[in-house]
Amino acid sequence: MRLIERFRLFIAYFFRFVGFPIEPSIIKVGTPDQNSPVLITANFNLTVERLLKNLRGIDCYVLIAPSNGINVWCGACGGDFTTDSVISIVKTSGINEIVSHRTLILPQLSAPGINPVIIKKELGWDAKFGPVYAKDIKGYIENQFEKTDEQKRITFPLKKRTEMANIYFFIVLLLFSIPYWIAAIFLPMLNLLLYLETLIISITIIYGSLIVLPSIPSNSGKIKVLLFGVIILFLVIFFHIIFYINLFDLIWDIIIVILVTLIVGEDFHGLTPTYKSDLGEKSWTQGKKDMKVVFGKFKLQPYGAIKINQEECIGCKVCLDVCPRDVYRFNELNNKAEIKQANRCINCNACVNRCLANCLIIE
Ligand code: SF4
Ligand code: SF4
Repeated sequence: MRLIERFRLFIAYFFRFVGFPIEPSIIKVGTPDQNSPVLITANFNLTVERLLKNLRGIDCYVLIAPSNGINVWCGACGGDFTTDSVISIVKTSGINEIVSHRTLILPQLSAPGINPVIIKKELGWDAKFGPVYAKDIKGYIENQFEKTDEQKRITFPLKKRTEMANIYFFIVLLLFSIPYWIAAIFLPMLNLLLYLETLIISITIIYGSLIVLPSIPSNSGKIKVLLFGVIILFLVIFFHIIFYINLFDLIWDIIIVILVTLIVGEDFHGLTPTYKSDLGEKSWTQGKKDMKVVFGKFKLQPYGAIKINQEECIGCKVCLDVCPRDVYRFNELNNKAEIKQANRCINCNACVNRCLANCLIIE
């Protein structure tokens, strides 16, 4: 990879909350022909980069649909990666003339925002939700476009949590360091020791909360981070009582603990598909425009409970196909879906929005 390319990816990685759109287009992967699969993704450059990496060895077409440079899940939840995005790229890419079949493979996490029924009506194409992760696409294609249960599930392993922690730390460092050293010119109490203390507190909250995340009780990412922040707050106060540093330091450290916890808690709430998304509804890009979205809505929001009206269920199994959290099971006896583990629901709305009988509700 060329140096400039690496630099571009580095910037996209650390500034991913800004959104880096690439031009909507059609990309040939390998040597596809008229029977090759057609995949769709959002036009966030990191998403495209990772998808193409995982498609090595597969002959297919990839349609890069407009999503304002926002990734698949945030874009689909926030109204940036929509049915219209798919319709527009199918119409403008010329794919109708390139392939002989009429099947589109969508990323599963686009289900909250993309409606295959409308795509069929408007374009005559069948849109299927493929696996959650790009790494599973090869297996999915080889399995005749059928997903295994594992390919439908979303996970949040340590590697991904560390990746997010790196981004949070970068943001905090960026937001904090420059104003701090400018203020330090006029305020002698803002010394190197206080700066290091601040960094240590930030690192502890950011990396600590994400590393121990699965062990913290609660189904909400925000509440998990808040609980962790409270523990750090007590530790900081305890540390100051034992070593009695000075009152200014104590107040400063308390403010830093609260601020970093709030930033990570709110950010975390919306930037991972494993927990309920508030920002998902608005997305970070819109959040930039309206900071109230980021800071004004900070509240301990309880999860709504997913409910099914079984009388109305027509047994289409769409909910089982799009749910990334294994909430449903299918009852073969009455040919209807049932809720197996409601407490795993992250209120992503994929099933509610896609249910063919409108018999699901979150309340
Ligand atoms: S049950 Fe919950 S987690 Fe599963 S798709 Fe529906 S809203 Fe999303
Ligand atoms: S998507 Fe709706 S109609 Fe289809 S199986 Fe699930 S609950 Fe029933």
